[in-house]
Amino acid sequence: MAHDVDLFVIGGGSGGVRAARIAAGHGAKVKIAEEYRVGGTCVIRGCVPKKLMVYASQYHEHFEDARGFGWTVGETRFDWATLIANKDKEIARLEAAYRANLERAGVEIVPQRAVVTGPHSVRLADGSTVTAGTILIATGAWPSDDDTLVGREHMISSNEVFHLAERPDHIVIAGGGYIAVEFAGVFAGLGTKVTLVYRGEKILRGFDEDLRDHLMAEYAKKGITLVMGETFSRIDKTGDGFTVHFRNGHAPIATDLVLGAIGRRPNTAGLGLDTAGVALDEIGAVKVDAESRSSVASIYAVGDVTNRVNLTPVAIREGHAFADTVFGGKRWAADHANIPTAVFSEPEIGTVGITETAARASGRAVDIYRATFKPMKHTLSGRDTRMLMKLVVDGETQKVLGVHICGPDAGEMIQLAGIAVKMGATKEDFDSTMAVHPTAAEELVTMRTPSARYPRAG
Ligand code: FAD
Ligand code: NDP
Repeated sequence: MAHDVDLFVIGGGSGGVRAARIAAGHGAKVKIAEEYRVGGTCVIRGCVPKKLMVYASQYHEHFEDARGFGWTVGETRFDWATLIANKDKEIARLEAAYRANLERAGVEIVPQRAVVTGPHSVRLADGSTVTAGTILIATGAWPSDDDTLVGREHMISSNEVFHLAERPDHIVIAGGGYIAVEFAGVFAGLGTKVTLVYRGEKILRGFDEDLRDHLMAEYAKKGITLVMGETFSRIDKTGDGFTVHFRNGHAPIATDLVLGAIGRRPNTAGLGLDTAGVALDEIGAVKVDAESRSSVASIYAVGDVTNRVNLTPVAIREGHAFADTVFGGKRWAADHANIPTAVFSEPEIGTVGITETAARASGRAVDIYRATFKPMKHTLSGRDTRMLMKLVVDGETQKVLGVHICGPDAGEMIQLAGIAVKMGATKEDFDSTMAVHPTAAEELVTMRTPSARYPRAG
């Protein structure tokens, strides 16, 4: 049966745009629907604007650190409106580039919401229907809400944080994951008083314990208040701000902004997937196989909507693999093992592979190499900050199983360490690599003595 298009993509974010462009390049007739702005979360209200704000937040420390190197820095002043306007200009430029790339590839952009009405059909917001040989769901995720929280309408999410009219004087942030931790660093760097409230004992659950401890210590040094073991019970609107109340007895906190960063949910509500018979998991993620095919043969899904690893490069890789496999005659699947990732906290985290806890729990013999030191720059700046480097090594094969870094440029370093880990490098491979001196990264190839050795269990 002939369809209007070969591929209809729902969602013009990281995964959808890549899939649409590659499929069109293979000769497929492709349409892509985007209900908000082309580029998706990463470009419009995620990675890119976030990273620009991280850069903005680092200047005040650069100004302070300059003194130890002989510089006299005059009066400094931060203008929120300038940052936001310049950031918005860059995001608009990127959005235009994404559109142009799609158009150049021959993809038709449909600037509307689309919902699935069957295995081969979608309905657009204007009421029209498009039929497609294949449908790709790439609708991403949406900030989670705690619907038991009284006054939750007073809380903003990461969607709004990029468009505040002014810099808050005090922000209370809920959550201990990537977004909460990154924005705590951003606002603290911009001069806002920051209180981070997390329900567990330590932020960044799932990361190596040493990284979690290290970053918490660094955040405390920056004056960020870390309230652990607490959740909000109620948020009251007051004359000039809000008062946050807590479930476990912490005294109420008055603040002028409350940011909720308690995770994101796959964006499948109202998408019509049930009408087509697409199976979802318990949190609403589209269930897919390794090739991103859903329970319906003609419907695929990539990116955050599948809740595999919710990172931009992963969505892009999954989208690319889908397009090559279905339209390019080249079958391959995205590999989700050993994905390097960075948390753009201040200082930054870069990590790849498994944690010490996971390695030891696996029962194998484990060697740990660990170093903390003052980065060279801060010998003269006088800043009280330390860097952490850690290798988790298989005690028998000597394979490096995990690399964990907290300190300046950790995100840049982990991209490269990630290649070595992905290739299965051993500790000897690290050791035989000549150091680059003087750098912080050289520590990765000069740690000679294990800080701990654990024998194989049993
Ligand atoms: P998205 O990029 O979310 O795109 C989905 C698109 O679908 C959206 O544009 C949406 O408007 C559209 N859409 C949804 N439903 C419909 C519909 N029915 N019809 C039409 N259009 C629809 N990842 C990193 O790797 N590094 C980072 O530094 C990083 N920082 C982040 C910071 C923040 C604040 C956030 C929120 C996320 C961050 N991420 C980061 C995660 C990253 O943004 C996501 O993993 C990535 O965007 C997922 O891509 P996607 O294609 O699955 O979905
Ligand atoms: P995360 O899943 O990283 O963190 C969610 C946090 O909220 C956790 O600390 C979680 O606690 C806590 N939480 C969950 N439910 C509740 C609740 N009901 N009440 C209180 N706290 C709760 O999600 P984020 O929103 O920070 O980010 C979403 C995803 O986006 C990330 O996981 C990541 O994949 C991606 N991202 C990537 C970035 C990067 O690459 N640098 C930056 C930003 C986002 P607990 O741990 O106890 O479950």
